[in-house]
Amino acid sequence: MNIILLGPPGAGKGTQATRLQNERGMVQLSTGDMLREAVAKGTPVGLQAKAVMESGGLVSDDIVSGIIGERLDRPDTDKGVIFDGFPRTRAQAEALDGLLGERGRKLDHVIEIAVDEDALVDRITGRYTCAKCGEGYHDRYKQPKADGVCDRCAGTEFKRRPDDNAETVRTRMAEYRAKTAPILPYYEARGLVSRVDGMAEIDAVYAAILAILDGGPAAR
Ligand SMILES: [Zn+2]
Repeated sequence: MNIILLGPPGAGKGTQATRLQNERGMVQLSTGDMLREAVAKGTPVGLQAKAVMESGGLVSDDIVSGIIGERLDRPDTDKGVIFDGFPRTRAQAEALDGLLGERGRKLDHVIEIAVDEDALVDRITGRYTCAKCGEGYHDRYKQPKADGVCDRCAGTEFKRRPDDNAETVRTRMAEYRAKTAPILPYYEARGLVSRVDGMAEIDAVYAAILAILDGGPAAR
C-alpha cells in the first residue's frame, strides 16, 4: 500500500502519518529527509546530490528520483510508503509512477486531509499553552477551570506561539494550495484522490484514513 498524504499545516498530517507508521508498519518518506540521509550515507545518488549542493546548485528531479528509487529498494518499505512533500509537479508525479512501476508497485491512494480555512484559523489562533508545564488550552474550546490558573500545575503564566495568527495560517493555506494544485488533477483523473475531514477528532480522521486503505476502490 503506497500513498501520498496531503494536508495543509495544522491539519494533523504529521500525527496521522506517525500512527500509520506505528500501527501499520508503513514508512514516511519526505524528500528532505531522504536527501539528507543519502548524502550522509554516501549512496551513489547521494554523492551526486552532495556535489550539486556543494557547488550551490539545486538538486534536479533526476537526482531526487534516484534517491527515492534507492530508498524504495530498502526492505523496510515493503509494508508501504507514505510520500510526504513529493511529488510537487506533474513531471515528478509521472516519475514516481515510473519508479514504483519498475519495482512492481503502484500508488494506491492520494489522501487529502481537508480543512475548512476559517475553522482552521479559529482552531489555531485560539490556542495557547501553560508556560510551566506545557498543558494546551484554547480561548474557545478549553479554558482553565479557574480563570488564569493552569489545571495541571497551577501555573499562572501562559504563552502563545507567534506563528499562531490568522495571517500566517492563511498564507500557509495559500502556499499549500499552490503546491498541490499541479498534482491533484493528475491523480483525480485517475480516481486516486480521497478526502477525509481534517476538522474531525484525531481518532475519527485516522479511522477515515484506514477505511480508505482497507476499503479499496469501493470506499472512494
Ligand atoms: Zn501548567
